[in-house]
Amino acid sequence: MGNSAEGDDVSILFLGFMIFSNLIFAKQSPVPLQTIRTNEVTFYRAPSWLKKRRLNQVIHRVSRYFEWDVRRVPVQMYESPVEMQRVHHLKFPVMAVTIRNPLGIHLGQGVNNQNFDQVFGHELGHVILIQKYKRAIPAWLEEGLVNHAVHRGKVDYSFLKNELKTRPITWNHPAFAKSPEEARFLYQLSLALAELLDRRCDLPDLLQLSVGKKLEIYLKNTCEIDDLDVAVRKWIAQKSRNSG
Ligand SMILES: [Zn+2]
Repeated sequence: MGNSAEGDDVSILFLGFMIFSNLIFAKQSPVPLQTIRTNEVTFYRAPSWLKKRRLNQVIHRVSRYFEWDVRRVPVQMYESPVEMQRVHHLKFPVMAVTIRNPLGIHLGQGVNNQNFDQVFGHELGHVILIQKYKRAIPAWLEEGLVNHAVHRGKVDYSFLKNELKTRPITWNHPAFAKSPEEARFLYQLSLALAELLDRRCDLPDLLQLSVGKKLEIYLKNTCEIDDLDVAVRKWIAQKSRNSG
């Protein structure tokens, strides 16, 4: 998910909740709270299968991709969707979310031993985009970019081609999708775009160039993309043909 939940009400709630929930949890849980501290994260309520070495591996992979040393952020795991919903305020349950202010990663019940590296790596990608680029990365690129960084999921180009028959291209953030189908479409579209940019103009290079500046200008100059919609439609058509 993106860093969509913002604002002062969120920040107050977040802090208050963290203190409160930790107290309750510490009293009731038979399993002692495991807090893992690295240079980059303080991981509260870390599950027992998570070891520091694995955590560091994921952190270093994403840091290398974006060439950025993370300034330490809190990571919190939640016992129930209700607990987590109080923090992110989104209308639907999410597996994980990064909140911009105060900056932190929130992981839900769906995060497990199998998907941890990808899900946590994805959220850490959001953290880096926020710390390194502030708001310079447009929302339409963000999801694709962080997924590209952790190699999460393949683009289903046939799905996208089909969807484009009835859906217009919109560059909204998937967090604001009106249905799960639209959310899937928007994630896939953003990832397809990341692949297109990586092919056309080397994504890490593009990011280096565009720090603190408008990415759109570089799309034009470096990637020779004048019209994003046209370029993406062409790319999807071409890729879906290739994949049969
Ligand atoms: Zn995301």
